[in-house]
Amino acid sequence: MRVACVRHAGERRVGVVSGDGQSFSPVALSSDQAERGVAALIGQDLDALDLLSPLPLSEVELEAPVPRPDRNLFCVGKNYHAHALEFSRSGFDSSAAQGDLPSHPIIFSKVPESVVASGAPVLIDPEVSTAIDYEAEIAVIIGKGGRGIRPEDAMGHVWGYTIVNDITARDLQGRYSQWLIGKSQDTFCPMGPFAVTADEIDLADTSVITWVNGEIRQNANTSDLIFDVPTIISTISAGLTLMPGDIIATGTPEGVGIGFKPPKYLRDGDIVRVEISGIGTLENRVKERRA
Ligand code: MG
Repeated sequence: MRVACVRHAGERRVGVVSGDGQSFSPVALSSDQAERGVAALIGQDLDALDLLSPLPLSEVELEAPVPRPDRNLFCVGKNYHAHALEFSRSGFDSSAAQGDLPSHPIIFSKVPESVVASGAPVLIDPEVSTAIDYEAEIAVIIGKGGRGIRPEDAMGHVWGYTIVNDITARDLQGRYSQWLIGKSQDTFCPMGPFAVTADEIDLADTSVITWVNGEIRQNANTSDLIFDVPTIISTISAGLTLMPGDIIATGTPEGVGIGFKPPKYLRDGDIVRVEISGIGTLENRVKERRA
């Protein structure tokens, strides 16, 4: 099932997207429930949703599937084989030897307020950063929380998936050691356009493609992940209780801007499109923030 969070007639609605992607059937929810975005559907019997009359998708304004996560998004760094190599080749991390792969998942976070919808501008401020990059990622939405989740049980905790573009200010990421500032600038977490339930995605074979202004930059498959989703969930939940609605961005494949010589960073007016098979296409325009 493909679901979305939208704004219609001044209200947030959560609902089901039709198979042809043309219409949206809101679920009967209270406005408090709908504030949680698609996380409001966690724990509900999806076969017995109380659906209202469908609306054309063209007549609603898409919001991020989870417009304001309850807490920081968990993210995984350097989690595709080819990307880990391009990252070490780029010289970003001088301590990393050529060919080094992380021995454990690298986990960082993005603040919830960085989330924006497909179609919303990604704002860049040249006074703050001049090295802004895209990172297409499939993101897990946790349905059942837990602590000490074993890898063999982890998929039972996954409610679904969405797309995240883990926009990154490379200069800030490098300058401040911890990645939070460079990853959490306002508008640096485009998410969407939709979320899908777990049964819709085969993590062994899902394509992740990024275009910038129509030029293909990333073209990979989740089969290249270094640490798979069960390992990631098990790693994070060892001593840290995962909660329903938590979001985990699983890392980006090869082809980010810093991997090119010279780097291809984002500029005012660029359009970044991320397509993940089975979910949809997340598209955002880069816009220079002017004082
Ligand atoms: Mg990333």
